Amino acid sequence: MDCLFCKIASGEIPSNKIYEDDRVLAFYDIDPQAPVHFLVIPKVHIKCADEIDESNADIVAHVYTVIAKIAARLGLSKGYRIVNNCGEDGGQTVGHLHFHVLAGRNLSWPPG
Ligand code: AMP
Ligand code: ZN
Repeated sequence: MDCLFCKIASGEIPSNKIYEDDRVLAFYDIDPQAPVHFLVIPKVHIKCADEIDESNADIVAHVYTVIAKIAARLGLSKGYRIVNNCGEDGGQTVGHLHFHVLAGRNLSWPPG
């Protein structure tokens, strides 16, 4: 399968890594939309939120624990936003589940 984030997860394509364990990888977004903008991905290929079910939902919980650890490490005490785009109308451009974490400026709401 030709998946960019699978290739990043395996190390075939380099990334600016923040955190890695056996199940997830966090790395800085190549086109940052805020002073701090990184992505957290499961290493296993899951297309998007549509494919979360009882068999794989634990990875989402793990992603959130990792985000909390990274946020503490980066000192994001003023807060941050977690974004998970799914599908065309959701603005997803890479078909491998990923969670954006944006911080370092006041983020508008609702998003455009
Ligand atoms: P989405 O539009 O939600 O699918 O988000 C995909 C994100 O991946 C975008 O914010 C891109 O800037 C980011 N991206 C694409 N290629 C790379 C890459 N090689 N390294 C890091 N981030 C990337
Ligand atoms: Zn993938």
